[in-house]
Amino acid sequence: MTDSACPSCGAPATLASRYCGDCGTELVVQCATCDATWPLGQQFCGACGMNLDEVGTRDVEERKVVTALFADLVSSTELAARLDPRS
Ligand SMILES: [Zn+2]
Ligand SMILES: [Zn+2]
Repeated sequence: MTDSACPSCGAPATLASRYCGDCGTELVVQCATCDATWPLGQQFCGACGMNLDEVGTRDVEERKVVTALFADLVSSTELAARLDPRS
């Protein structure tokens, strides 16, 4: 494991930073087992011992998918509004 990166903007994040210096996102990783949050870069959940390194990577991937889906939803909603003659 090398440096961490901001899950929001991808800016390099030092392990000592609590918030991203670029976008202000709180740099935490959430345990998938017990939902506790820990500083980005922490290896294991302090509450249940889950490996947070794998969880954090997966979480970032999921967030990218959610963002893409949301963008899709917004554009289709706008399209529907334009096509609706009553609006
Ligand atoms: Zn950021
Ligand atoms: Zn945990």
